[in-house]
Amino acid sequence: MANIGYIQVVRHCNHFCGFCSNPTTPFAHTFESMKVLVDDFVDRSYFGVILTGGEPTLHPELPKIAAYARERGLHVRMITNGHRLAEERFAEALGEAGLQLVHVSVYSIDPEVEQRLRGAAGTLERAYAAVKNANRFGIEVNINCVINKLNANHLDKNIEYWIENHPYIRHFIWNNLDPSMGRAEVNQGEFTPKLGDFEASLHRAMTLLHNSGRTFRVEKVPLCYMTDFAWASTETRKIVKGEERIVHFLDNKQTVRQTDWEHIYSESCDRCSLRTICGGLFDRGNGYDPAELHPVFVSRDTVVESIIRDPSDPSYEFRSIESWQKDFDQRCADTLAGRIKKRPSGPDSPENGPADDLPPEQMRPQGPAVGAITEQSQKLYETKRRREGQKAEKAGIRLEHADVRRPTERATDE
Ligand code: SF4
Repeated sequence: MANIGYIQVVRHCNHFCGFCSNPTTPFAHTFESMKVLVDDFVDRSYFGVILTGGEPTLHPELPKIAAYARERGLHVRMITNGHRLAEERFAEALGEAGLQLVHVSVYSIDPEVEQRLRGAAGTLERAYAAVKNANRFGIEVNINCVINKLNANHLDKNIEYWIENHPYIRHFIWNNLDPSMGRAEVNQGEFTPKLGDFEASLHRAMTLLHNSGRTFRVEKVPLCYMTDFAWASTETRKIVKGEERIVHFLDNKQTVRQTDWEHIYSESCDRCSLRTICGGLFDRGNGYDPAELHPVFVSRDTVVESIIRDPSDPSYEFRSIESWQKDFDQRCADTLAGRIKKRPSGPDSPENGPADDLPPEQMRPQGPAVGAITEQSQKLYETKRRREGQKAEKAGIRLEHADVRRPTERATDE
């Protein structure tokens, strides 16, 4: 299985997106605490690690942890807004450290829309410089895009730009907005799209990529809004292949292991031919309307076959639909019988506490936690909150509810 783990290396950021679902907290990582998490992924035979945030390039030891993860044999990736990667020397250093793939996050190629979404000016030019630098220094580039109310009608225009101006970018990822956490939760009216708002432009965008031989994935979009490309759904691929995902959050959630990719369904889902492989509607904050879901009547096995026989992703060991069906039935039976522990869906579910086997042995119960609250990180957090409060007021958006301190026995003072 091509399991990939996530480590949030910092939680502060140099942009101020109004729908940020992982905003600043008082938690901080040292190289040593990140190293334990990397080792744990290696012990679990994970394929790779994604260094994320906040904005991961703001961690002073990012190149060092990237180099360590690479040395340990993981495929090393990073999700970034590209701001620092626009600096040539920084991009070069990350390439030399062993970073193999960078996901640069860009929401819109319309400068005004991007500025509104980022809460900062001039970010688009830096993102363009970042993708050029990464390509120049041998780091593969993917583009990540959060689907939201302001870019919903021009996802295809974004793709046209990338194909024309950056032909070396071969893979794209869309994430529909998660309205349940952070600033996204308190600014739903401003940024959460209706599913119907983006259906047409997403379809055009996927068609453009598919016809050009590029690849893509789509997360948090129900299959009835991407039926022609159902095989590209992240949740569907994970359901079909039985994959998991571990996220080490730098907040009170700490470590979350996600094995259940099913979200919310409506009554109409009962009549849908894709129900058993569909993630449904991702929503824990009443941001979307289940009435927008509608059954489809296409061949489920055709979707499954295109996933298990995908030559660009040979991560599934069974290659015939019959052997897949047997494996899938067994997994369903194991889940029902409790042999596979079902987690509440989504890494951000409030009821989703650390799994029994997590965090790594060295970190529990009295060992170092996933990050620590130090005097320095607490001060940085307070300064950030003050500044972000001013930014929020200026931009006319609400600031997220403050993260609550973890129990004091787990906090470490420097
Ligand atoms: S109707 Fe339900 S099961 Fe069918 S594609 Fe839509 S969300 Fe998925």
